[in-house]
Amino acid sequence: MNRRHFIQQSLTAAGTLAVCGNTHAEVTIPALKLSSQEGRIPGGSLKEKVANLEAWGACGLELGGDPSNRIAEVKEAIKGTKVKVSALCWGARNGDLVSNDPEKRKSGIEAIKKALNTAGELESTGVIFVPCFNGQSSLKPDEIDKILWEILPEIGDHAKKAGSRILLEPLNKGETFYLNRIEQAAAICAKIDHPGICLMGDFYHMAKEEKSDAEAFKSGAKWLHHVHLASRVRWLPGEDKLKEPDQPERSFVEGFRALQQIGYQDYCSLECGIAPDKDPMKAIPQSFQLLRDQWSEAFRSKA
Ligand code: MG
Repeated sequence: MNRRHFIQQSLTAAGTLAVCGNTHAEVTIPALKLSSQEGRIPGGSLKEKVANLEAWGACGLELGGDPSNRIAEVKEAIKGTKVKVSALCWGARNGDLVSNDPEKRKSGIEAIKKALNTAGELESTGVIFVPCFNGQSSLKPDEIDKILWEILPEIGDHAKKAGSRILLEPLNKGETFYLNRIEQAAAICAKIDHPGICLMGDFYHMAKEEKSDAEAFKSGAKWLHHVHLASRVRWLPGEDKLKEPDQPERSFVEGFRALQQIGYQDYCSLECGIAPDKDPMKAIPQSFQLLRDQWSEAFRSKA
């Protein structure tokens, strides 16, 4: 019996949370590994930000771009703490990797390889890659598919050598016409079939594009190695009603349950704004607590 089945069966039998020990009498709730993008966390230095994250029970720090010139600073800031580098949010580099111009493509590939080296050096889970944002490519989706099929195997090889991976990120249609749903990214991963080419999900974009958080995560389960957290209005989880009082609050329970069911082991990381009148020193730990509560609810409640 694998661990997932064991947990599910134990839950059915016990109907309660239990602790995973050496015996089969008890199981533990899977860990929710909370993380945040660096810019979201208050603090006068990276060290202060890491201290805040740790005090609030988070264990991941997501960095922007390619922080190759900050490796020593980052290592020093996390040294002796429970915080590790989660993902590097690298982006699209103006869509260069899927450009029609071979020179731009070549330079984009070199840049993402360099970011993968940094990701490996920092032991991060991967480099977030958006093939192109709206306005960055005049190609059709099937033309971009073909370019990716051509360039990704080599990038995947480099990622493996560097000890990292690419994380394809689907975005809502307001940001890209290309990858909008996790199953589309999963189709690329399946086609390339390389351990260095994986994907991620972002609850903000998923609220706009996916019919079901659970089905979306399950469609990409084999390659899923990062998750972004935000409310429906892209503020902190739990802040939807502060902006849109008449609309429902975005729930993470269904998606979290799916992450538990697929045995997701990586980080869930804040990528969001914050209600303008809120103090991040109070609002962020409150939001983390809401997420932990919903993670527990997902574990307790049946689908
Ligand atoms: Mg995102």
